[in-house]
Amino acid sequence: MNRYSKILNKTKREIVLLKAKPCKWGKCIFCDYINDNEVDEDYIDEVNLEVLKNVTGEFQVLEVIDSASVFELTDKTMAAIKKVVDEKNIKRLFFEAHWIYRHRLDEIRDYFGVPITFKTGVETFDNDFRENYLKKGASFTNWQEVKKYFDSPCIMVGIKGQTKESIARDMEIIKNFDHATVNIFEENSTDVKRDDELVKWFYENYRYLEDDPKVDILFNITDFGVG
Ligand code: SF4
Repeated sequence: MNRYSKILNKTKREIVLLKAKPCKWGKCIFCDYINDNEVDEDYIDEVNLEVLKNVTGEFQVLEVIDSASVFELTDKTMAAIKKVVDEKNIKRLFFEAHWIYRHRLDEIRDYFGVPITFKTGVETFDNDFRENYLKKGASFTNWQEVKKYFDSPCIMVGIKGQTKESIARDMEIIKNFDHATVNIFEENSTDVKRDDELVKWFYENYRYLEDDPKVDILFNITDFGVG
């Protein structure tokens, strides 16, 4: 598994995929990346401190992802990230957090003292599909609620059961955010299926997002170079 990479288009940044304690939510039916979660904190730190040694600070922007929320990183790993931020002159961070942590984001902002772009897994603003099928556990009812807390929704495209209408609506909604990430769903070890017809339709109609500086679009889950 590759845990360090550089994103060289749009917001240039280094990115690390760290190990975390088990995702506090852990119920999304399409997710098998929680298999990377770990209970042995010493092992988590051993892996993470090694990965963080790669960070050079060359773009002064660092994204930290961890197959859970930033709140599931250990104290020692958090301290190591902070050290990297200070020593490598990092001026902006990207982190991810689940909706359940929306009231605690300032803890992270205060801890690091640099601007943070908070991503959150929205998957879709279609509340019924997100909550009743995907079991996302993100109980907002509209994008305005999400924007109150988070900077950047992560949207999933191409899951069987999604509709063109709901995807088109999601693509309109993300224009209201300063940043968004669009992931094309790839089948994994879960039972959730991909709708190739829908993905083809999306390619044909939304390929222009590749040139949108505010949108990171991942046609493959490893397009950020980690995973
Ligand atoms: S919140 Fe994220 S890491 Fe946790 S189960 Fe859902 S998709 Fe997986």
